[in-house]
Amino acid sequence: MKLRTIMRKSKSHVSFKETAQLALRGFGVWWRENLRLLLSILICGVVCALTPYVDIWLLARLIDEIAGGRDPYLLKTYVLALMSTSAVLSLLCAGLTRWKNVQVACLWHTQNKVFTQKLLSMDFADMDDSHVQELRSRIWQNTDSGGWGLYKLIYSFEAIISSVMSIISAILLTASLFILPVTAGSGGLMILNHPVFILLIIAIMFGVTFAAPLLSVKAGSYWVKYADENQLGNRLFGFWLGHLGNDRSKALDVRIYRQDILSRSNLKKYNPFIPTSKLAKASRGPMGGYQALSGAVSQIFVGAAYIFVALKALGGAFGVGRVVQYVSAIIALSSGLSMLIETLGNLKNNTPFLRTVFEFLDMPNKMDQGDTAIDQNSGIGYEIEFRNVSFKYPGQEDYALRNVSMTFHAGQRLAVVGVNGSGKTTFIKLLCRLYDPSEGEILLNGIDIRKYNYQEYMRLFSVVFQDFKLLSFELGQNVAGSMNVDLDKADQCLRDAGFGIRLDKLPQGLSTAIYKDFDENGVDISGGEAQKIALARALYKDAPFIILDEPTAALDPIAEFEVYSRMDQMIGEKSAVFISHRLSSCRFCNDIAVFHMGSLIQRGSHDELVADRSGKYFELWNAQAQYYEVED
Ligand code: ADP
Repeated sequence: MKLRTIMRKSKSHVSFKETAQLALRGFGVWWRENLRLLLSILICGVVCALTPYVDIWLLARLIDEIAGGRDPYLLKTYVLALMSTSAVLSLLCAGLTRWKNVQVACLWHTQNKVFTQKLLSMDFADMDDSHVQELRSRIWQNTDSGGWGLYKLIYSFEAIISSVMSIISAILLTASLFILPVTAGSGGLMILNHPVFILLIIAIMFGVTFAAPLLSVKAGSYWVKYADENQLGNRLFGFWLGHLGNDRSKALDVRIYRQDILSRSNLKKYNPFIPTSKLAKASRGPMGGYQALSGAVSQIFVGAAYIFVALKALGGAFGVGRVVQYVSAIIALSSGLSMLIETLGNLKNNTPFLRTVFEFLDMPNKMDQGDTAIDQNSGIGYEIEFRNVSFKYPGQEDYALRNVSMTFHAGQRLAVVGVNGSGKTTFIKLLCRLYDPSEGEILLNGIDIRKYNYQEYMRLFSVVFQDFKLLSFELGQNVAGSMNVDLDKADQCLRDAGFGIRLDKLPQGLSTAIYKDFDENGVDISGGEAQKIALARALYKDAPFIILDEPTAALDPIAEFEVYSRMDQMIGEKSAVFISHRLSSCRFCNDIAVFHMGSLIQRGSHDELVADRSGKYFELWNAQAQYYEVED
């Protein structure tokens, strides 16, 4: 597949309405997740933005007094006021900034929490969906590459508060510049008093002030234009340098099969960080041009403002103190307006990235809709029925399961057998409601399982899937699936699962960390040991149904025999479903279901099935019998 075909177009027209709507929704996310963060930015922004203007105003009064009346009392008052307000406001600003920085430090984790909660709560079927994977990956890369998405909103909020406060304060300090007239007899300078001239000056100032940030926003829009390519390059580099290169578990495969996707030519072709990348070319060309023009326009504005203030002072409109006040305030007004416009422009540029965020967060959870409570007291009295169930995986043409009908009673031991790809695991995934059937229905005690409360239904099952995962936590925590461990119960479950001898040898027993990711004293464990721990975890959950998908695949024959000989005792009165393609390990089940090409083709006890010489079971049994002759 060509790499470019996995790039998606993320650009399209962005309206002001959409920008406002998505930005407000984004702020809503932060409001719900971390209100303190928004409050700290608001309060800190207001106080810190006001600080310099109070200083400017008092300094101007002081200079005017030095240049004018030199009243010792007034001079003393201004100096004291300047020193004390400056000290108090600076201290307050520093304290608030520290508070805000602590909140901002949580930004990354808060955002992670939002996306992880969505992932954990979404329908399992959707997690497999390639579009969802693509969305997830784009969201992370957008955040990584330029802070785009939810992140950008926080920094924009900070900039909006600070710029709005600057603008208000600067306007208050500048207003009299236009009102105070140059004195009569100032010759040509009298034109500065003319209302048309004043309006013209204000219009030019605003025009130039808007032009600079708009040019800067135009420069920023190149980030959006090349976002897809940057994402692909970032993805390749992140995958290669940040992920595969560091992942010990993949090191062997990477060394042996260096795949084409990681080839030097691909890395070079899609590298966004080299001078020949499109973004680099744009920054030398139009993008850089717009940015430079923006800087030049700003400087022209500052120069023009200096000239206007100087001419009015020359015409006797005000003294040296006000010159200081106006110059400082105009520059602050200009940078405040620039910052505001640039931030609003950035919010517009951020809109396509927020679209991706909300496309992901808005995905409906179709499964979690039932509200019928499950009678927990009926305990082991559950009955499950598959009624004409067929299923296709999302986006697949072929049925993985076709027209399966079967009933399964409480306390029963059911073995599900069949060759690879015959539909055994799919059958279990439907039973556990990881997917809903495409056709037909599954009933629990006569009620469609879709009508039950999803979380309650999930609590009925303890499953060890083939590709189970253990976490880099303590052994006991892995077994309990929680930080709070019932130590006696965890110990017993591990011994029941055949992990007893190894457990006795572990220096820290149940507190031993599994793997070395977070603890240098952690232990590495073999596949067979991991399978026993996963089995213990399933026993610990103590659910009415226990389902084991190839539970002994990683065990050697002796360990397998041990586990199976204790299985009855381990499971007790619970219902159990075993999946295995080793037929010998299923013989202890009183009920065996044979799957083939997605259909249930035979059912019965071992003796009944093996007696049918034309059946699939007999064929499978004969094919494997040579390995089990001794047991026979
Ligand atoms: P078994 O457990 O008997 O080996 P499975 O239930 O895993 O078989 O697979 C049944 C069929 O469904 C196979 O053709 C397999 O390729 C397909 N299949 C399994 N998982 C998925 C999936 N996540 N997406 C698409 N097809 C799948």
